[in-house]
Amino acid sequence: MANYLKRPQGTEDITPDRISKWYTVEKVTREVAESFGFSEIRIPTFEQTELFQRSVGETTDVVQKEMYSVIARETKFTLRPEGTAGTIRAMLQNGMLAEALPQKVFYQFSCFRHERPQAGRLREFHQFGVEMAGAASPYADAEVILLGRTVLERVGLKDIVLNLNSIGCPKCRAKYQEALRAYFEPHKEQLCETCQERLVRNPMRLLDCKSPEDQEIAKDAPVILDYLCEECSAHFEAVKQHLTAMGVEFVINPKIVRGLDYYTKTVFEFITTSIGAQGTVCAGGRYDGLIEQLGGQSIPALGFGMGLERLILTMEQQECGFLDAKSCDVYFAPMDDAARPTALQYANVLRDMGVRAEFDLMERSFKAQMKYANKLGTKYLVVLGSNELEQGAGQLKNMITGKQHPIRLDSAAHFAEDYSGISIAEMFDTETN
Ligand code: ATP
Ligand code: MG
Repeated sequence: MANYLKRPQGTEDITPDRISKWYTVEKVTREVAESFGFSEIRIPTFEQTELFQRSVGETTDVVQKEMYSVIARETKFTLRPEGTAGTIRAMLQNGMLAEALPQKVFYQFSCFRHERPQAGRLREFHQFGVEMAGAASPYADAEVILLGRTVLERVGLKDIVLNLNSIGCPKCRAKYQEALRAYFEPHKEQLCETCQERLVRNPMRLLDCKSPEDQEIAKDAPVILDYLCEECSAHFEAVKQHLTAMGVEFVINPKIVRGLDYYTKTVFEFITTSIGAQGTVCAGGRYDGLIEQLGGQSIPALGFGMGLERLILTMEQQECGFLDAKSCDVYFAPMDDAARPTALQYANVLRDMGVRAEFDLMERSFKAQMKYANKLGTKYLVVLGSNELEQGAGQLKNMITGKQHPIRLDSAAHFAEDYSGISIAEMFDTETN
């Protein structure tokens, strides 16, 4: 066993051999969000613990069991377990909600939850999220759901099912909570400990429990959709109508109540069956009460969070395409010591033109350099021998075809001013490659 410290359980290293997968999802999510008119927001990695207690909610798993908190100089701070609370806090603090509405932001950052690590469930994970504040219209719900679906389509996922539900407003929920209490009360003793407490404080949370025994008991529980008030019901109908008009397929799933307290009306999850139990790739909904709850005006809002590890896992499972890994465009290989300074010099000329250029830093033999250049996936090798160098010449070797041609080294410099996708061979003034 090697004697160095290991990373904390439930965290991941994203090594260079995997980074292009991350570039892929970061690029697609950013592009789609921007095309819908969302701008990026960046917020602190930690907030005052109270922010999450007041927004995510005291009866949720996240706040009860999963937060990483520290007390520093008498103030309690928590690593963000999700992005909505901090984002809304930032919107309030920066006066964004006093400006033209809706405000539409997105983020890509890591979140922290103390959970039992397994595939698709980490202690540090990454979310792409969007939040929209100001719009009460069902068009906004449809828009946000469409944004999520566009991302999933754009990365090439196939089997994703949109699960849709409405959990109403505090008005409809009061009656529903009563009905749930009446339903679960006779089974109280069989429920897990957390759910016994939920039964008292927030019975809707029971539907979100992961224990199979509790899920079995909840099988025939009353359904929130039967308790919606007129306004919530009309809103839900309109959302479904807009989605249908856009050709977005969905299933109604009354078991979706979302794990966080702040949701109202529309809630949704995009679920895949490709990656086993942790199949919710994207989850969100409307949270009309949150901004007021955090000290702002009564402004409706909605959003979602998409787990990027789960997204990548699903893409791998379904063999979706990723951006190509970056590899070396041109590798300068001096054949002898006298040619080494030229390698340093010309690699730098090409870099100024946006070419990924490298040269031998190990002062290795030519043969060893070839081997290394191959490992890098090098496209072109420039062979430098001191004899040819006297004439300002070298050899350009196409590493894929193996063909080799003499080149004039200084010809590359001519392109320095307007390099725009010129092939390496053209750059060096050679006919064939
Ligand atoms: P789950 O039911 O799987 O625990 P959740 O309801 O706690 O999910 P949300 O708070 O809605 O999750 O977070 C939004 C998304 O972030 C999830 O749908 C998922 O894709 C991702 N996610 C949440 N927790 C984790 C985690 N521990 N590891 C990896 N991804 C996560
Ligand atoms: Mg969870």
